[in-house]
Amino acid sequence: MKKQVEKNGFELLETREIKEISATAYYYEHKKSGAHFLNVKCEDNNKVFCVTFKTVPQDNTGCPHIMEHSVLNGSKNFPAKSTFMELIKGSLHTFINAMTDSDMTLYPVASTNNKDFYNLARVYMDSVFFPKIYEQPHILSQEGWHYDIKDPEDELKIIGVVYNEMKGAYSSPDNLIELNNQIAQFPDSPYKYDSGGNPKEIPQLTYEDFINFHKKHYHPSNSYIFLYGDADENEIMEMMDKEYLSQFKKDVEPVELPFQKPFTRTKKLEVEYPVEEGKDISEQYHLSLNYTYGKNPDLITVFAINALMDILMSTPASPLKRAILESGLAHDVRVSFNICILQPTFGIICKEVKKENIPALVQLITDELNRLVKEGIDKKLIEAVLNRREFFLREGPSGNFPKGLYYAFNVYHHWIHGGNPIDALAFEDILKELRRGLTEPYYEELIKKSMLKNHHSSQITYVPVPGLANKWEQEIKEKLAEEKKKLSEAMLNKLIEETREFQQWQQQQPTPEELARIPFLTLEDINPEAEAYPLELEKLGTKTILTHPLKTNGIVYLKAYFDLDHSPEEDLPWLALYASLMGMVDSKNYNYVDLSNEIYSHTGDLNLILNLRPSYQDPDIILLKFLLSGKALQNKTDKLIELAKEFALYPLFDDYDRLKLLIREAKAKLQTRLFYFAESIAINRLFAPSSQIHHFLDLTSGLDYYRFLCDLDKKLDQDIENIAHKLEQVRETYFCQNNLLISITSDEEAIKETINGLNPLLDAIPDKVYPPFERYFHPTDFNEGIIAPIQVQYCAKGGNFFRKGYSYSGKLRVLTNILNSEYLYRELREKGGAYGTWAGFTLNGYMYFVSYRDPNLERTLEVYDQTPEYLRNFECSKRDMERYIIGDISNLDYPKTPEGKGAQSDDDYITGFTQEDRQQIRDEVLSTRLEDIHQYADMIEEVMSMNHYCVVGNEAKLKAASKLFDRLTPLLS
Ligand SMILES: [Zn+2]
Repeated sequence: MKKQVEKNGFELLETREIKEISATAYYYEHKKSGAHFLNVKCEDNNKVFCVTFKTVPQDNTGCPHIMEHSVLNGSKNFPAKSTFMELIKGSLHTFINAMTDSDMTLYPVASTNNKDFYNLARVYMDSVFFPKIYEQPHILSQEGWHYDIKDPEDELKIIGVVYNEMKGAYSSPDNLIELNNQIAQFPDSPYKYDSGGNPKEIPQLTYEDFINFHKKHYHPSNSYIFLYGDADENEIMEMMDKEYLSQFKKDVEPVELPFQKPFTRTKKLEVEYPVEEGKDISEQYHLSLNYTYGKNPDLITVFAINALMDILMSTPASPLKRAILESGLAHDVRVSFNICILQPTFGIICKEVKKENIPALVQLITDELNRLVKEGIDKKLIEAVLNRREFFLREGPSGNFPKGLYYAFNVYHHWIHGGNPIDALAFEDILKELRRGLTEPYYEELIKKSMLKNHHSSQITYVPVPGLANKWEQEIKEKLAEEKKKLSEAMLNKLIEETREFQQWQQQQPTPEELARIPFLTLEDINPEAEAYPLELEKLGTKTILTHPLKTNGIVYLKAYFDLDHSPEEDLPWLALYASLMGMVDSKNYNYVDLSNEIYSHTGDLNLILNLRPSYQDPDIILLKFLLSGKALQNKTDKLIELAKEFALYPLFDDYDRLKLLIREAKAKLQTRLFYFAESIAINRLFAPSSQIHHFLDLTSGLDYYRFLCDLDKKLDQDIENIAHKLEQVRETYFCQNNLLISITSDEEAIKETINGLNPLLDAIPDKVYPPFERYFHPTDFNEGIIAPIQVQYCAKGGNFFRKGYSYSGKLRVLTNILNSEYLYRELREKGGAYGTWAGFTLNGYMYFVSYRDPNLERTLEVYDQTPEYLRNFECSKRDMERYIIGDISNLDYPKTPEGKGAQSDDDYITGFTQEDRQQIRDEVLSTRLEDIHQYADMIEEVMSMNHYCVVGNEAKLKAASKLFDRLTPLLS
């Protein structure tokens, strides 16, 4: 440890260079308040700031979660209750959110703009330390729960943002499984409570408990502040010290998390979960085996358990996963992970099991684990898993996620349990320790200690109960009716008065003075030029090579797009199925276990997907492609190319038993996804009857595809030969050189090398030409209600505005920002209690409005219909309009990874979208005026009047509104 240095009231505890992530970490403690602060300084301009508190639930009222929502409703220096929304709609953030975990609450923001970043950090500090909740109890009512009754004759209802959010969460079987797995392992510790809140108990939260929770947990001495990137730390530290931390003293009781005493024997229990009314439940039992082992902040144990679960369960070669699936006793398996809490907890979840098979399944798992301990784990598999982990740690997160935030998440779990945060960033030493498993029985011992001989474990059977969601809903209704009966007239009138007062408060707009306090950028701070992504083009006969020279840290990203223009519609689900099986079946030169180990050992990823895009020039033209993509370090590109060929071009379908279990697994996985993405199901089914692209998406990843898999599942035994034959046909017919597109993203030299090494792949692709398939799409017109065993709705409404004679403009992006952050947010989230809601306008002319975990149905559709009226009366100052514009620029300018830039450039090339188009859209965004917004009222009115909608939701709710629908369809069959 270096000499102690003081800076802005912070004492420097340690400085360390972290080569792995090219950064230097500075670890401080704020002397007066006791706040912990880590600055991870590096060149990344996507800066991250995050304040986190250790928060320990004391019951199931969801207080930590409701607090997370509430503190973002106005604070001392930023009193507008909509401050958080103002930042979302008007700042250049690359990330802004808050989240509640089992034992902590995080408030992260990120931005690439210095001024913006400082503003966001300051507002977040103000919100968490000086929130308005102390003087405004309505905030708890809105974000948590409140009684709602407007007339003595009305039903008594409970509304609240978190209340509804959690009703949605309790509708998802997978959420319930994760939650109950944790509860079972911690009967005597706060981990037995749901920090998110159980809807049945949320209404027990009182204002007093709520305020006490803040006093106890939101003190600087219980705060862990993380800064990352090229920010000016002096400025931030000075602000934190002067304005916030120095106003507190550290002489408060620390927040403690008691330790759960390990069990002396494995616990067995049953937990009910909801499925649809009338469903055949014989194969719908789920089983979970849970283990608690070790103690945080022991990093090595956490990483080792993680690696062990990957070894046992996560790759196609993983032995435990194989044993379970091959036994046919369960159709889907996955890992349950909660290894970051004080006592790391993990488990195995087996889905779709017959009740009578549960003992056999438990025995099979025990036998397989014993076998592995005795015979040893395949070293190639261990190496494959560790190599993939290392690749992933070096590459950092992909997609739309700030790298710094990914590091923050890695640090926090360690930090709040008393660990040194810098240790959690330096992964070299940890990987070295994990590699001991290559020469000694490291993971075999871990299986023994953490699973086979670990009594702090539980076996839970999840029992399907048809109609349970409706029963819960009914119970709540009855309980409220009961409560209402007990109310005296005076008390009833008081509740009506309170509802009225509350609604008045909700209607109040922030004053101009309040709004003026929120710091914002101006249009002068915005770059008028759209970012261009590098693209070079080379023609090789009928093939095209696209290259994107970029700095990629020595990684090569390779993609091949195979043209599928010759595929008839009935082949589409087969193409989707084919893609999902790649890497899971044997190939010409490898069995699937060896193939998987090779892929994990030498590449960062390899996969095949269906790529469906409408042409930008003519949205009725659908561009259908197989996209084969992979990544590897530059010195492994030869291997990447060889494996890509095996993976996509040479799969074999002759192991019928394996094929059967893979198809069953695909069906089970999609079923889980349908619950998670119910809003996209609603949007997609809204358009599918009248839009070819949505129809295709439905056939290849949506509800139609699910039905296709269900059909296959029913005839697997008698039809498996035909199924295998059909997949072989896909392999023979849909990989051709004709119109083949290859794309490479890396630095110049690696690109050259990769092109030179492409031949083994190109030579393996047949040089066949098929005539394109003539497509005729016959639009139909109906509105569908989709029944699911859930307690909430997902309501989508919209249509195509091109068909009404309108065209796309960047101004629609600003309109979206206004609708999402103002109108829909206020009407559906604040007043209607829906957890989320948004509108969208796509480049190919589709407009949709959708709600997420929404207690309502008819009211929501009415709110959509009233949008034109809202827009005609919409007023805002020039300054406000600037904010809406800047808010959208934060989406347009979201920093992309090198892989993301390459992929965007490919997509532009394929769809015919040019840099001029991109610039035009940016110009339109930047020049949006109030008049433009008014003018869109007509367009929305015309589209809404077509009256196309689709709702996924609760059975009773949909049946009660059945006259709205031309058909009611079950989500699952
Ligand atoms: Zn929430």
